[in-house]
Amino acid sequence: MKIYDVIIVGAGAAGLTAAAVALKQNKRVAIFDMGNIPARKVNVSGGGNCNITNDAAGYNKYHGKNPNFVRGALSRFTPDDVKRWAYKHNIELIQKTPGRYFCKNGAGAVVAALINDVRGADVFLNHHIDAITKHNELFHVEKCAGRTVILATGGISFPTLGVSDAGYKIAKSFGHKIVPPRPALGPLVIADWAPEMAGVTVNAEIKIGKDIIQDSLLFTHTGIGGPAAYRASLYDLDQGIKINLAPNTDVFKQLKTAKQINGRKSVSGILGEIVPDRIAKYATKNDNRRIADIKDDNLKQIAKRINEIIIPGNKIRHHGMAAAEVVRGGVDTDQVSSKTMESKLCPGLFLAGEILDVAGDLGGFNLHWAWASGFVAGINAAAHRQEI
Ligand SMILES: Cc1cc2nc3c(=O)[nH]c(=O)nc-3n(C[C@H](O)[C@H](O)[C@H](O)COP(=O)(O)OP(=O)(O)OC[C@H]3O[C@@H](n4cnc5c(N)ncnc54)[C@H](O)[C@@H]3O)c2cc1C
Repeated sequence: MKIYDVIIVGAGAAGLTAAAVALKQNKRVAIFDMGNIPARKVNVSGGGNCNITNDAAGYNKYHGKNPNFVRGALSRFTPDDVKRWAYKHNIELIQKTPGRYFCKNGAGAVVAALINDVRGADVFLNHHIDAITKHNELFHVEKCAGRTVILATGGISFPTLGVSDAGYKIAKSFGHKIVPPRPALGPLVIADWAPEMAGVTVNAEIKIGKDIIQDSLLFTHTGIGGPAAYRASLYDLDQGIKINLAPNTDVFKQLKTAKQINGRKSVSGILGEIVPDRIAKYATKNDNRRIADIKDDNLKQIAKRINEIIIPGNKIRHHGMAAAEVVRGGVDTDQVSSKTMESKLCPGLFLAGEILDVAGDLGGFNLHWAWASGFVAGINAAAHRQEI
């Protein structure tokens, strides 16, 4: 039986980063993955251009039971470290918006670099790991044994890319609690919503409690999509949401002014100068009357349909894992050290990446978490006492 210093389960962003770090410390490393190629999610990330990191990566960009958990890893591995790594591998980065980095030559270049960094490891593809046992201080993974194991099996969203909940089961077998996983960074289904607006995109604001998201929102046949909805899907939506389709305009004030200046114009025509026509028609319920003929109370109602759409929590649900880019939930971070990524329950077991109850905002924060937590897990697994 071959004994490794570090066995990694999951050849995704986090697992490959951890493997590269451990190899640099001259450790014997094995990597197991159920897929026939490594890093399938990285390969499709960012629409094929891999949104690799974000200068704003800070604990406030992450959701989970304990958002502070990410602080340690984020301070050990920063966006500048990602940029240096990319530079070393001749991966040209571009900022589509300030601070948000994509790969000019596509995600494939990132996958190739990740694979290149783990050349010294034994890689076992097409190996689905169902269970890991620990005897005499050694972890047993199939026919191999490891002094440490890093579980980096990712989340269970986007099943078309091949996902498995076995990582959660393995963590559970070592006593870990699992925060129930649910879809995040995906579209939302809204009951009794406005399918006539499907296809319309608008810059909107979504308020969830005290938090405000302002981003592009797409109306779909079943609800809302686009970056604003994706970001909202990270939150607990039981409390409901408020949508503002013209966040920088007091629509009632504009309508009152328009009524005074030119009362012969139609209310939908005036609204059409503020929001897309289909939203104007929805807000006025196709009312084509002159604005002068519409009472202020009515104008207030119309304005509310743009500035303050209230959607109660019981009308909102997540679209499902199929369209979600990440999961919220996963291995409970209370039982994992934020400094080392080592299990507090089972010495020698480390966890990294999306398997943990950490979900980042849209914008490169999830991959950043995978790199940072993988780096910390790799360093600490390699440094784990090796005298056994
Ligand atoms: C369509 C899409 C686009 C995205 N775009 C971006 C983006 O641009 N920027 C960004 O920051 N984030 C993006 N994300 C999220 C990001 O890809 C993930 O958060 C990140 O890849 C998680 O890394 P990970 O290593 O933890 O898990 P993964 O990358 O999912 O890797 C887990 C690996 O474990 C393997 N595995 C699972 N179970 C087992 C098992 N039982 N035995 C053996 N192997 C197993 C899987 O095959 C997989 O290779 C995107 C996600 C999707 C779905």
